[in-house]
Amino acid sequence: MDYNDLANLIFPGVKDIEYYEEKYKTRNLPEGAIVTRFAPSPTGFVHIGGLYQALVARTVAKQTQGVFFLRIEDTDQKREVENGITGIVNSLKNFEMSPDEGQINETEEIGEYGPYKQSLRKEIYQAYAKYLVKQGKAYPCFCTPEDLESMRAKQEAAKIRTGYYGVWANCRKFSVEEMINKIKNGESYIVRFKSAGREDRKIKHHDVIKGNVDFPENDQDIVIIKADGLPTYHFAHAVDDHLMGTTHVIRSDEWLSSVPLHLQLFQELGFRAPKYAHIAPIMKNDNGNKRKLSKRKDPEAATDYYKEEGIPAIAVKEYLLNIASSSFENWRRQNPTKPMEEYTLELNKMSVSGALFDMVKLLDVSKAIISRMTAEEVYTYSLEWAEKYDNELKNILQDKEYALKVFGIERGNQKPRKDISKWSDVKDNISYMYDDKFSVEEYPYQVINDKESIKKILKLYIEKYYNESDDKQMWFDKIKELAGEMGYAKEVKEFKANPDMYKAHVGDVSTVLRVALTARTNTPDMYEIMQVLGKERVIRRLENATK
Ligand code: GLU
Repeated sequence: MDYNDLANLIFPGVKDIEYYEEKYKTRNLPEGAIVTRFAPSPTGFVHIGGLYQALVARTVAKQTQGVFFLRIEDTDQKREVENGITGIVNSLKNFEMSPDEGQINETEEIGEYGPYKQSLRKEIYQAYAKYLVKQGKAYPCFCTPEDLESMRAKQEAAKIRTGYYGVWANCRKFSVEEMINKIKNGESYIVRFKSAGREDRKIKHHDVIKGNVDFPENDQDIVIIKADGLPTYHFAHAVDDHLMGTTHVIRSDEWLSSVPLHLQLFQELGFRAPKYAHIAPIMKNDNGNKRKLSKRKDPEAATDYYKEEGIPAIAVKEYLLNIASSSFENWRRQNPTKPMEEYTLELNKMSVSGALFDMVKLLDVSKAIISRMTAEEVYTYSLEWAEKYDNELKNILQDKEYALKVFGIERGNQKPRKDISKWSDVKDNISYMYDDKFSVEEYPYQVINDKESIKKILKLYIEKYYNESDDKQMWFDKIKELAGEMGYAKEVKEFKANPDMYKAHVGDVSTVLRVALTARTNTPDMYEIMQVLGKERVIRRLENATK
């Protein structure tokens, strides 16, 4: 009896690997094209760190005319949840990052290299495991969980490395006959890789992001096929990324220490190893302590959070590119209007350690992006968000023509308004432009704050200076006049030069008008606001503020 008999006993009726090698052809892509993937487990939660990895992967694939595919890693069936795939697919869709190949909903997929869902690839993994068994590079292990537990306890007591290796790898020692007999006797088993590595030898590895790293060789006989017949992550990774033609494995750096094992698996399977690019996690500053963004503690760790808050997907992506590469910000400054896809991301320039997630910065990026949108775009996105999350805003936006005027204020010019960072800001940002939302209980504090002066300014303005048809220059000149008439400085400069001579200046007079019109001290361009409100409403609001 030999390894062939053993392999046939463990994996009866499984195809030869030649079948799969033949079936999945080498991809026909331009020189230098990067093929990479996003390979999440369908746990029902898409972490922003996962999206970040996917963005990096997709970006480098796109910029090299390569392929970005989605593989569902569902071999740990305990962790799986219902509709987990839908969550992943929708997250990618929301961020306009749908893959070229892979799962497109719970049951369907596109692409020639599938199935892209690991639980459907059982026979493929078994074919490759069988191939290893045939060569004596994998073997059945009959150790029970209790056996492994007591082995571990012994190792810990003796203060030596834990694991299934060397002399500790008990089931390695059985002869083929013994293995076959045990199986025939109905003993349960899993399949382990027989590592040829030695812990006292080093391997040199070049990671595309982390650079050169030295590791001891792997000597652990890891499990490759579990009791349920499905592979472990390590084995599935080697088989899938080989057959799917992955050129670059871009993944979280928690896997960096598994590289020696993975390289060994590729080698023993006779595969050409891919390049690895290990991405540092996104960190958070928690009262001075740097820690990973946590699914349990941080709402912003969930990709859904951004959708619910109404932070545009494109802003999140841009921000993530900022985190990925320090040169992005500069590029953006030099190319304020170019689509982010024109930026070239270089994996080898990515940050080696975890970047800090900064919500303020993200919202700044978002503000800048929204400021460059047309009124029509702002309207469309706000409405889309409101339809899902805010009925009141949805109602406000029903009069599209008026809403476009409101969103059009200070937009489309050199220095557009930058007051909206997310769609959930919109209601508060524009409410004063709607009479039924504009009820003032108290006007905010301002420099000219005594009732008498305010009344006088407003009265004078209504009676003497306001004319709806004035152009902007004329409009502003009149406010200056008014300031002069009230004894305030007509120019800010003048006020600054002689602060003792004046109680206030023209800007403070403008503020009186602004506060009366909007109940805010800070708004976009007041001239435009007045134009959109129209004469009747302007006068009504100014008059109300004199009461
Ligand atoms: N399923 C693995 C994970 O979610 C994938 C790692 C990889 O990209 O290879 O961590």
